[in-house]
Amino acid sequence: MKLDILTLAFILSLTFVIQVIALFVQYRLNRTYQGIGWWLLGSSLMALGYIFMPMVTVKSLEIFARIANPLVVLGQMFLYLGIMRFLGKKENRGVLISILAVFMLSYYYYMYRYNDISARTVVLTAALAAILLMTAYQLFLKKDKLITGSADFTAVVFLSYGLFMITRTFFALILPPMHTYFDQAAIFMASFIVPIITSTLWTFGFIIMVNQRLNAENREEKEKLQLVFNTSPDAALITQLNEGLIVDVNIGFSAMSGFTRAEVIGNSTMKMSVWSNKADRQIFITELKDNGICENMQFVFRRKDGSQFLGMISARIITIHAVAHIVSVIRDITERKQAEEALMESEEKYRSILNASPDDITITDLEGRILMVSPAAKKMFGYDSNYDEFIGMRLVDFIVSEDVERARSNLMLMYQGGSPRPNEYRGVRKDQSIFDIEVNSGFVYSVNGQPTKMVFIVRDITERKRAEQQIQELVQQLEIEKNIAQLNSITDSLTGLANRRYFDEALRTEFYRLKRSEAALSLIMLDVDHFKKFNDKYGHLAGDDCLRQIGSTLKTIVGRVPDIVARYGGEEFVVILPETEENGVETLAERIRKAVEGLAIPHSASDIAEYVTVSLGIVTVYTNKLTSPEQVVALADEALYCAKKRGRNQIAVRSIS
Ligand code: GH3
Ligand code: MG
Ligand code: MG
Repeated sequence: MKLDILTLAFILSLTFVIQVIALFVQYRLNRTYQGIGWWLLGSSLMALGYIFMPMVTVKSLEIFARIANPLVVLGQMFLYLGIMRFLGKKENRGVLISILAVFMLSYYYYMYRYNDISARTVVLTAALAAILLMTAYQLFLKKDKLITGSADFTAVVFLSYGLFMITRTFFALILPPMHTYFDQAAIFMASFIVPIITSTLWTFGFIIMVNQRLNAENREEKEKLQLVFNTSPDAALITQLNEGLIVDVNIGFSAMSGFTRAEVIGNSTMKMSVWSNKADRQIFITELKDNGICENMQFVFRRKDGSQFLGMISARIITIHAVAHIVSVIRDITERKQAEEALMESEEKYRSILNASPDDITITDLEGRILMVSPAAKKMFGYDSNYDEFIGMRLVDFIVSEDVERARSNLMLMYQGGSPRPNEYRGVRKDQSIFDIEVNSGFVYSVNGQPTKMVFIVRDITERKRAEQQIQELVQQLEIEKNIAQLNSITDSLTGLANRRYFDEALRTEFYRLKRSEAALSLIMLDVDHFKKFNDKYGHLAGDDCLRQIGSTLKTIVGRVPDIVARYGGEEFVVILPETEENGVETLAERIRKAVEGLAIPHSASDIAEYVTVSLGIVTVYTNKLTSPEQVVALADEALYCAKKRGRNQIAVRSIS
């Protein structure tokens, strides 16, 4: 076969078609990698360009030849784009578009305005050289360590071809202008042979780059998996599906089972009695065969020392060297199970307390929203359907609005660490009836001491309140009665004045008080004149009435707060006048005498007046000069005796010199 230009163009096209096929296969396999698609597109355009090129010789197909070189340039540009994407870099679009635009304009200028093959060759080779050198430069610059060798190799290929293009540009410039493509046959031939070699090499480079990256990534992935396998605290093991032969175990397995790696590799799990119950393995295998995977199944396993533990196993079937294997991960959940059981047990206890309690036990979150109530709550608050009605409600929804503010401030106190004490509120039932409750509260703490919930113990205290009320009323009654008795003991029942006992006490108190202050103390002693005769004449009841009238007259006249009027006994009365001088007393005594006379109670039996009259004895003393209160009474009595002796219905003063 004669190696002419057309043959070379054909071989070149064929080379590109083969490359396109090779790249297509790569694209199908490793589509996830960026760039391969661009390479496929670039190579396809170049293949098309080289196929179109020989059509220059056939007049009717000449139009295709005219776009052949632009297709090659575009294809070369796409290869560059593919490289950039594969390396994870951003291409400079401005530069690419500029190159393409300058190329297109000049190329078609020298085709349609000045048909100049040499000029077109310069434009074409210069454009290609620029793109090729840019491609080589980017490949040399790459940072991806995983593909160093293949990328450098590919860069050299692009660089070589780029240099060749520069050489061609140079020759096109210095050699005489061409009139047909075949004028400079040697160079022209070379420009077909070189791309045959270089394009094959760079496609080869692309494929190696992809595979190098793939291998490196696989290796990394494998190392990561290996690391996870080896460092997992869970036991991991790989066994053959059929015989149960152990192929690999991790450190976690040795730690959990007590078997060393050397002891178990090559042995079967059945022989090692890893399964506490042999039938369990069958259940596990069946599950695996049915589903290809098993998740979180619980079985009892046996350690080397014969002790048993509860394990949770997850596994899947994988194929290693065409043999089905099981990868299993076992977690020792003995402690977890025990903790769960302990928790269940404590919850059970807790529940029985809640159920048995006559009080409502309510648990809320920290905002006071109800999470749970005990059965007593339903009856207490009149909810009979279900507990859901309580959930999400607040505790304050169950007390009267007037008490809410107080409840809130009590809660605040609790938050601030105030000592929990029972608080009483008025509760509201579902039917809006109101009853008394007592609430004890506290926090529920987490393991690390943080308050997580609040617990309220609510007691219906209606009965207690009622009993308390009754007791209070009873105490009140007793208090009143006691006061009355006390009053009675110092009151004269006939006149309502203070009695003799009170008088004695009061006189004693005043006597000693005034002894210290050295002030005067006056005493008036009053006796009804001829009262025996009055009784005899008008009867005893009229006598009583007369005494009552004289008593109230005394009370009216003696108005000063510290003064005391008392019935001394029989028809005798006394008036104690602390801090009162003699002349003041005389005036008062005279007023009393006149007032009694003024009552005009008829007394026909009296030989001194028509009406009832009284005699008064007065004494004024400085108690520091006396020794006992009785002396004061005796002096007043003496004065009274004087008044009687002088003819009654008058006052007599006992002066102390
Ligand atoms: P004199 O002018 O000397 O005081 O003569 P008198 O009759 O008032 O004195 P006397 O001591 O002899 O009599 C006092 C009488 O007062 C004797 C008693 O019957 C009477 N009397 C004493 N207490 C009461 C009383 O509570 N009610 C009545 N109705 N009379 C009483
Ligand atoms: Mg008397
Ligand atoms: Mg009398």
